Amino acid sequence: MKTLKCSTCGKKAVYFRANEGRYYCKQCFITNIEKKVRRTVGNYELIKSGDKVACALSGGKDSSNNLFILNEIFKKNPKVEIFAIAIDEGIRAYRNKSLKNAKKFCDELDVDLHVFSFKEEFGFTLDELTKKVKENYCMYCGVFRRYLLNKYARKLGATKLATGHNLDDEAQSIIMNMLKGDLVRLARVGPMPFLLMHERFVPRTKPLLFIPERESALYSMLKGIPAFFGECPYAYTNTLRFETREFLNKLEEKSPGIKYSLVEGCYRIVSMLKKKLVIGKIKTCKKCGEPSSQDTCKACQLLEKLS
Ligand code: SF4
Ligand code: ZN
Ligand code: ZN
Repeated sequence: MKTLKCSTCGKKAVYFRANEGRYYCKQCFITNIEKKVRRTVGNYELIKSGDKVACALSGGKDSSNNLFILNEIFKKNPKVEIFAIAIDEGIRAYRNKSLKNAKKFCDELDVDLHVFSFKEEFGFTLDELTKKVKENYCMYCGVFRRYLLNKYARKLGATKLATGHNLDDEAQSIIMNMLKGDLVRLARVGPMPFLLMHERFVPRTKPLLFIPERESALYSMLKGIPAFFGECPYAYTNTLRFETREFLNKLEEKSPGIKYSLVEGCYRIVSMLKKKLVIGKIKTCKKCGEPSSQDTCKACQLLEKLS
C-alpha cells in the first residue's frame, strides 16, 4: 500500500486535514498546531506583557494542551507568569483521576497548581448534588465551576483566565445559544469573551479556539501529554449539547471546514451585535460580592434553591 506523504516535507503522513486537502507528518502537525495557538494569542492580544495567567486545568486533553503550549510560549518571558488552577467538583472515579494527571503534569512542567473544591466552598460534591436535583447537572456544575475559577484566579492575582475551549466547544455553544434565542450569551463567544468589565471579573481567554477537538486529541497523543481521556458520567445528561455535537460532527464529515465557517461567521455577526445589544451593567452580588448580571449572582441563586 502506498504510504501517504506530508504535503510540506514529504515525510510519512499521520493526519489529513480535509478542509485544506493537506497531509501532515508528526512534526509538521505539531508545529502547525503550536503556530495556530501563537497566532490566536498574538492576533487577538489574549496575553500581554505584565499578565499573570491562570490556566484552568481539568487534566483532560484540551486544558492540558492549553497549559503546555502557553507555558512553551511564555516560559522564557519574565514579564508573563503562568500558573494552573483546577476545580474539584467531586465526581468520583472521574475528577480524582483527571486531577491526579493534572498534578503530575504540573510537576513535570514546574508550574504551580492550585486546587479548589465544591465540597470546601459549598459544602457538597457534585455527586451529592445529583441526589438532590434530578436534572441539569451540567448547568449547576458550570455555574459553580466558573464562579470558583473567577473568584480564586482573582484572589491569586491573575489578570487573565485561560481556558481550553476548542473549536468544537465554540461551535456547539453558538448553535445552542441560537436555538435558545439567547443573544446576550451569543455575544459572549470569541477568543476574549467579555463584554463589560467589573473590577472583580478576571477576563477569560480561549487560546485553543481555532483547534478542532480531534486535532487537540491528536496533538496531545503525539506530544505525549499525560491527558486523561475519560468522560464525565454526567456528560450525556446534557442532551442539547450532546445532540448539537453529533449534528455538527455529521455536517463536518460531509462539508469539511463547516465548524470554522460557523465560528468565523458568528464572530462577524457578534461584532455588529455588540454595538446594538443593550446589556445590563455588571453588578456586584449583594450576597457574596462576586460580579453578577443581577442583584444576586447565579451561584448564590442556585445555592439558595438547593437549601
Ligand atoms: Fe460538569 Fe457536566 Fe462537565 Fe460533568 S459533563 S464535568 S457534570 S459540566
Ligand atoms: Zn512534514
Ligand atoms: Zn453571589
